[in-house]
Amino acid sequence: MRHFFLFILLSTIAYSIQAQPIAKSEKVLIRDGKPNEVMRITQVTDKDDLVILRTPSRDIPSKSRRFWKRLASRMLATVSDPDNQGVGIAAPQVGINRNMIIVQRFDKQDHPFETYINPVIIATGDSLYSQVEGCLSIPYVRNAVIRYWEVVIRYQDKRMRWHEEKIEGYTARIFQHEIDHLNGILFTDLIRYD
Ligand SMILES: [Zn+2]
Repeated sequence: MRHFFLFILLSTIAYSIQAQPIAKSEKVLIRDGKPNEVMRITQVTDKDDLVILRTPSRDIPSKSRRFWKRLASRMLATVSDPDNQGVGIAAPQVGINRNMIIVQRFDKQDHPFETYINPVIIATGDSLYSQVEGCLSIPYVRNAVIRYWEVVIRYQDKRMRWHEEKIEGYTARIFQHEIDHLNGILFTDLIRYD
């Protein structure tokens, strides 16, 4: 009997951390607007937004690709909005606790914005360096943060195919900043005052 309860408990935990279907609140937020319409950016200064920014995100499932593509195109519109331009954005910043980021690839010609689904850092180099960062969700704060020079990421593209890629320099910094967002970590957590 005890094993049975343990089985139920472990199954429940396994279910809760795997990719879950679309929630009603996600449907409302993502569909409420044109496919290329800018979304409101969550702010640390707002109590409800802060809860979203501090909540670890869940994976995006392979199903309902058109729906998640719409989130990607709305996030792209948001990060490239001339009124509020950034170099990267994570889904919690538009109110969605899902593992999706958009990063501007300064290491590629013409610096395109690219979408990464369920990204994780699987390895880092040894070298660290400091550079000033800001965040679309944190008004008026800019500060130096120490990051890895080089990271290896694993992610899915819009067709849900897996890739691994080694990234360096400023673009690697953006990946670290955005993937931190997916774990509820903000760049201000990493500022050292010593
Ligand atoms: Zn940020």
